Formats: sequence, C-alpha cells, structure tokens
Amino acid sequence: MPDHSTFLKNRHGRFRDSDLLRELFEMTVARCIAERLVGGHGFAVDASLIRADVHRQRSVPGEQGLPPEAVGRAVAEYLDVLDDAAFGAATPVTPKRINLTDPASRWTAATREAAFYAYSTNYLIDLDHAVIVDVEATTSVRQAEVTAQRRMIERTQARFGIWPERLVADAAYGSAPNLAWLVEDMSIEPHIPVFDKSARTDGSFERADFIYDHEDDSYICPGGKRLRRSNRNFSTPRAGVDADGSIRYRARLQDCQSCNLRQRCTPNMPARKVTRSIHEGARDMARDIATTDAYLVSRRQRKKVEMLFAHLKRILKLDRLRLRGPNGARDEFHLAAAAQNLRKLAKIIPMAQPAPA
Ligand code: SF4
Repeated sequence: MPDHSTFLKNRHGRFRDSDLLRELFEMTVARCIAERLVGGHGFAVDASLIRADVHRQRSVPGEQGLPPEAVGRAVAEYLDVLDDAAFGAATPVTPKRINLTDPASRWTAATREAAFYAYSTNYLIDLDHAVIVDVEATTSVRQAEVTAQRRMIERTQARFGIWPERLVADAAYGSAPNLAWLVEDMSIEPHIPVFDKSARTDGSFERADFIYDHEDDSYICPGGKRLRRSNRNFSTPRAGVDADGSIRYRARLQDCQSCNLRQRCTPNMPARKVTRSIHEGARDMARDIATTDAYLVSRRQRKKVEMLFAHLKRILKLDRLRLRGPNGARDEFHLAAAAQNLRKLAKIIPMAQPAPA
C-alpha cells in the first residue's frame, strides 16, 4: 500500500503541475465534438456559487487584511492569485470578511440567503445537447465571472476552433463593455438582457423617454428640445467621454428654465443631462434582439445551464468543496464538469451491448 501522504503529494505536485484534470476535461469535450454532440451555433454561460470548505468564524474583517501569522498552502495560493483578474484583481472593493483557512474564498450573500464563503464555478455550454465546452473557477464577484466568460470563449476557439454565433446569458453579463466585446470584437450576437441602471423610480422621465438622433449625435427630449454633448463652441473640441466610458448630453439652461415639463424632467437640477455609453451601439443591438422570437427561445434554453448546476449540487453533491484554495476549487470543478460530460455521452450514445457468450 502506498503511504497516505503519497496521494496528497501527487495531487498537489505532479497532477497539478501537469494540468492533468484540465486535459481530462478537454478529452471529454473533444469526444463530444467527435460524436457530433456540439453544434457550435449557440452557447450559454452562467456561474454558480459553491460553498468553500471553511468555518465561517475563522475570519477577520476585510479592511484588517490577512494577518502575518496566517500561513499554509491555501494562503500561498491566495497570494499567488492576488493579481489575477478572475480572483484578487477582479474588483477594487475590499471583501467584508477574509477567511483565515481559505482566504481566496469570497464572503458573499449573492443568493439572498445568509452570507457564506464561496467560489464560483463558471460553465460555457453548447445549447444543442448542453455539453460543457469549458469550465473555470473564479472568485464569487460579477466582474470575475465576466472575465471567465471571455477566457472560456477565447479558449474554446483556440482549443477546438469553434465559437458561437450567439451567446445566451443573464443580465450579469449585460454590461456595456462586455456587450461591445461580444459584438465588435467577437461578432457574437448577445442574447443577453442589457444591464441598465437608467430606470427611475420617482416618476421623472427616464433615458428611454429621450430619442437619440444618430445623424445629429444628439438626444431629443419629451419637450422637443435638443440635448447635445456641448452647448458651447470650444476652440479645441473636447472628447467629452468620462472615465467610465459614458458621454453626457446636456439640455440648454434656457430651454429647461422655460419648460412646463421641468418638474417631471429635472426637478432638482437647473438643466437635464442624459448619459450614453460609448458602447451604446452594442447595447442597442442587444435590445433589438430582445424583441425577437429567437430571444424567447434563448431564454428557455438558458435553463439548460441552470439544470447542469442543479445536477452538480443535488446529484453529484458538489454543493460544498472538499479541497481548499483556488487550485482545489479548479480541480473539483474540472472533475465535476468532466463527469457531467461523460454522463451525457453515456446517456445519448450508449455503449454497444457485449455479444452473448
Ligand atoms: S426640462 Fe429641459 S430636457 Fe426636460 S423636457 Fe423640458 S426642455 Fe426638455
């Protein structure tokens, strides 16, 4: 019998260094492609929270940071991924709490339950037979999950030479830069609800009440007046783009002062402003797609990726990780996705029955 530490050393050493589990997962994808289970026309992407294997009370407030006495393999892995866009560099927001056992796990209450420490498993699936074409472990914040979506699409293209005509996802993937990346860089139709914070709850006019004039690059307000990037002529034209990639269109002060719609339009400001993203073209495309019958089909198909997560947690019992650190999460997510693909293969293409003796 090998010594028990042999298993541990192999897992943390040889297996991990060789990227064996990634290769195993990709073999299942290659087999599904060979069996024509991957159409490559439509993909769906989503992420799901998996509880980390930690005790919630072994933690410190996030602003306090990790104490110097915290040591161990999971701590070393946390320090390794601090600059990774899928982990530490995903967001400048300091987490509310940091766990001392597995600091890379994220204190999150995204499911509206009591907060817990978690990692996110991200799936990119083909919509024909819900084959998982890529999987990625990330910290549990939206920005990291969007980064994972980009990595998975690019990696699927590089490894297997396939990329989708359309991508189906929920509103978490509907930010303006992500829609622009899909439409302008990747030529992928976004079947994704637009992430829009312009809605107002006080009954005043929303941005949707203003009509954009493409030719004149201005908005027309409900009172029929023009809102422009600038109402003055500067000798040196200004770019007029904010750091967050939005352009402000302003009504003229004298128009708003004499307007009888002012109380419904700009009750607290002397003149109305409307912002427009530099990626508004991609957002408009996503909005147009959302009015089509194909989008209704996509919304139904999005359930396929949610069903895979339900199967992962209820049948494969991966609602809580057994291993710690980003590498532990990566290993378990790759193994689980490989198992789900193999199960799909066995279900759709059963093995030939052995000949009777
Ligand atoms: S308040 Fe100004 S922006 Fe609003 S409707 Fe009147 S003129 Fe147009």
